[in-house]
Amino acid sequence: MGEKMLVIDGSHGEGGGQILRTSLSLSLLTGQPFRITRIRAGRQKPGLQRQHLTAVEAAAAVGQADVRGAELGSSELTFVPGELTPGDYRFATGTAGSATLVLQTVLPPLLRAAAPSRLALSGGTHNPHAPPFDFLAKTFVPVVNRLGPTVDVRLVRHGFFPAGGGELVASIAPAATWRPLKLLERGEPRRRCARALVARLSPDIARRELREVERLLSWLPAETAVEEVCDSHGPGNAIMLELEFAEITEVLTSFGARGVPAEAVARSAILQAQRYLGSDAPVGEHLTDQLLLPLVLAGGGVFRASELSLHARTCMEVIRCFLPLNLRADAEPGGGWGVVVGGLERACG
Ligand code: AMP
Repeated sequence: MGEKMLVIDGSHGEGGGQILRTSLSLSLLTGQPFRITRIRAGRQKPGLQRQHLTAVEAAAAVGQADVRGAELGSSELTFVPGELTPGDYRFATGTAGSATLVLQTVLPPLLRAAAPSRLALSGGTHNPHAPPFDFLAKTFVPVVNRLGPTVDVRLVRHGFFPAGGGELVASIAPAATWRPLKLLERGEPRRRCARALVARLSPDIARRELREVERLLSWLPAETAVEEVCDSHGPGNAIMLELEFAEITEVLTSFGARGVPAEAVARSAILQAQRYLGSDAPVGEHLTDQLLLPLVLAGGGVFRASELSLHARTCMEVIRCFLPLNLRADAEPGGGWGVVVGGLERACG
């Protein structure tokens, strides 16, 4: 495969950790070495943070890679992948760095490996700006499994930002055969519920959040639940609105933060739900960017997305740097997006 070093500008497009994580996954998948410069240049704390370093270390371990520049704060990294090695691994972000994002970095290559893997990941399981465990388990993994593999994720312990200390375990069985995805409709609505999680905080916060959901979305009290989390090392609060349809479950999350009233926390999740329900496309904002790599593995696919974020556009550009794929997102007259991903086999064949 590719010998020449590919150079990626880490500040391009969305300019965050996702460019790095997507590049790591693609490098392991294609065997293509890369150098990434200006890592997270525009962010408040630029360069590699603990969470990104853990993703690099995880990618290096499963891909026997040779890495230069993997230090805290580093703005440049060189990654030369070796042999993809499935197996049992344990990775710790050490802080509340997102464990789910570390999983999503090494999952695509491990889904292509010759044998199953098991990962124990510790750190944050419920972090702002990252997929919460519940989104991973209910939204992301079921769609990945439709493509052919068998991925199972289990929450061992909640880890909220900033204390972290959570853990999740993932079993990854690669697909015998891959099926391209066609996800154009949501299907019949099945169930909706609002869950308000509180760890080491008053359950009254959760009750106030749920009252706001009842008031603004007209959901019934029977469709809401306070969940007191007892296993978390530190305090935390999240409200999650789950919308289950025959073809997809969407989980919209907002996290409590010091100084932000519970009602405002709820309203942020409510707004996300209203945006999603205002479209009829099955794939929501976050799943759109997270689905692109699994679809590359699956030999392509087509789906309708409610939004096309800068994350998704940037992810497409990074994929194009590594693979000559047909990747398209066309605006639909009704406001959504039709996304088409060409497949790896076709690209390589
Ligand atoms: P980055 O900001 O580059 O580190 O990437 C963040 C990743 O987390 C992207 O893949 C987002 O789609 C994902 N993400 C952020 N917030 C959420 C959320 N509330 N639910 C699901 N995924 C999320």
